[in-house]
Amino acid sequence: MRTNTHNRKIDVYRRNDNRRTDAYNRRINSNKKRKKVLRKRKAILRIMFLSVFCVVLFYFGRTIANLDLLSNNTEIGSNIPASIQINTNKAKKIINTNKSDSSTWNLILVNNDHLIDEDFEVTLTNLKNGHSVDSRIYDDLQKMMNDARKNGLSPLICSSYRTYEKQSELYNEKADYYRGLGYSEEESLKKAANWVAAPGTSEHQLGLAVDIVSLNYQMLNDDQENTKEQKWLMEHCHEYGFILRYPKDKIDITQVGYEPWHYRYVGYDAAKEITEKGLCLEEYLEQK
Ligand SMILES: [Zn+2]
Repeated sequence: MRTNTHNRKIDVYRRNDNRRTDAYNRRINSNKKRKKVLRKRKAILRIMFLSVFCVVLFYFGRTIANLDLLSNNTEIGSNIPASIQINTNKAKKIINTNKSDSSTWNLILVNNDHLIDEDFEVTLTNLKNGHSVDSRIYDDLQKMMNDARKNGLSPLICSSYRTYEKQSELYNEKADYYRGLGYSEEESLKKAANWVAAPGTSEHQLGLAVDIVSLNYQMLNDDQENTKEQKWLMEHCHEYGFILRYPKDKIDITQVGYEPWHYRYVGYDAAKEITEKGLCLEEYLEQK
């Protein structure tokens, strides 16, 4: 009898023991499952973070490439070189005729009403970074960049000469984008022109315009005007024959949005007068 009672007690202990072991195993398994779920969540979060990062990066890339109405050069980050190499492209031919100034190379007017001929050619000076400008403005441009640097600034040329083909390519890419969204042909071209100058209407095709940004702030938007570099350039560019071509108070005349980075070479005299009188190039040429 005692033995039976003893055995029952042992059975009870064993059952309890087994229950404890089962509970322990369940706990271990549930811990494992929890860790697995956590690992999965972490992986998903990591992927989501990377995706968001890529989207943000892509968006900023597009912003930089698109906001400049007359330029779509993606070579932001390049610098004006110390040494140069001269190209031997041939003479120029333009259908652009602006009153008596059509013969004055540095005062050629290019806008929606004054187009550059498809065959326009210019003698270029190549900059080390793949950029190039009309050889005649190189010295002044280089001097302006050097002087800015002497003042502790970090200006960066991000867009310069562009061929007619390149401009067409950029314009068509943008128009294609709107065609893809279902806009009519006319609407697509019109909308594209808000972002990229139509072929023949970009000063960059002359080799007389450069887009300069601050090394520390390379976004092509209104805030560019607040950089030390733009403040200095806006104040001093006329001393080197340049003007800020698309001021914010002349949008109705230039038909181009404010671009606190687009500098156009017009020569010392014109730059001085345009700056002193607060004109834009259209107004200056009109009063001549
Ligand atoms: Zn530009």
